[in-house]
Amino acid sequence: MVKVLLTGGSGFIAAHTLDLLLERGFDVVTTVRSEDKGERILAAHPNTPKEKLSYVIVEDIAEDGAFDEAVKSDPPFDFVLHTASPFHHNVQDPVKDFFDPAIKGTTGILKAIKAYAPSVKRVVVTSSFAAIINPKSHEKVYSEKNWNPVTWEEGLDSSQTYRASKTFAEKAAWDFVEKEKPNFDLATINPPLVLGPVVHYLSSLDAINTSNARISGIVRGFDKESTPPTVTYLWVDVRDVALAHVRAIEVPEAGQRFFVTAGRYSNKDIVDIIRDAYPELEDRLPPKSDPSDLPPDAYGYDNSRSIEVLGLKYHTLRESVVDTVKTLLENGA
Ligand code: NDP
Repeated sequence: MVKVLLTGGSGFIAAHTLDLLLERGFDVVTTVRSEDKGERILAAHPNTPKEKLSYVIVEDIAEDGAFDEAVKSDPPFDFVLHTASPFHHNVQDPVKDFFDPAIKGTTGILKAIKAYAPSVKRVVVTSSFAAIINPKSHEKVYSEKNWNPVTWEEGLDSSQTYRASKTFAEKAAWDFVEKEKPNFDLATINPPLVLGPVVHYLSSLDAINTSNARISGIVRGFDKESTPPTVTYLWVDVRDVALAHVRAIEVPEAGQRFFVTAGRYSNKDIVDIIRDAYPELEDRLPPKSDPSDLPPDAYGYDNSRSIEVLGLKYHTLRESVVDTVKTLLENGA
């Protein structure tokens, strides 16, 4: 029996990670913000016994001591996967809404584990390509070596707040293990835009997770006039991101940073795939004649560590888009 604490169980990436952990025999306790959200997760796994899957409530990861009780368990935890962090575009107060939950959420769980869960061997933090990219001066080829140089001041500009929150949170995690020398080591998973099937509870399509919102918008006919701008030219399938989290606890030498990407894409590629795979949606799609906005010299990527150490074999964009659209249609798109 190997026991895992998974934070943010109600989320898009966490739901896939949870399913994979159970499939591979781990016992899982997940944190959610409310009983309602916890009960929905249990209801989605009716055949899983309660000793294999349960939840604890952590209402706000930014609170001091938020995880102090959650990390205590009997039998104790072997691993912690920390996915919970705000990811949306509604920036009202950058510090309160993003920096605090991202940074204090991360340092808070690391402190709690050090103090109350000495059995934990590794913590995996869901970071992001946001913590790697340098939008002011792109690398030719991005890899785990690169860090977003964003400053706190720059991060207060709403266009940079999310990326800054992920950068500061990941830095804080590496600083913590370096300074505090806890019993556990650290892995971070750094994906760019994550696409893929929706398996978490969705109250309505308007509540779609941020990274699937563009496919959802295209499928719902919101972009009929023109293909929306791509912005970041790298992507990855959620099932590969989930597998990366699980491999990061299964592989002993995985206490590292992992840039997890399937490669380049543009929104035009997504529209072309939908047009080809779902001809019945033609009337809702942006014009066929729209050009691709992927610059020929767009930055490249080196995902070799994720393949060599974690053994990832990436889904193709076509597989990902086709499967995503299927679940969006099932959810009423
Ligand atoms: P979701 O919004 O679906 O999941 C975010 C999760 O974090 C939810 O469970 C949410 O709870 C929880 N959460 C947010 N703020 C708080 C808070 N203050 N207190 C408690 N829980 C909180 O997004 P994703 O699944 O896409 O994101 C998961 C992780 O992956 C995040 O760390 C994100 O930064 C990272 N990531 C995502 C990428 C993507 O393209 N999807 C790309 C790179 C990184 P609730 O549901 O109750 O709001």
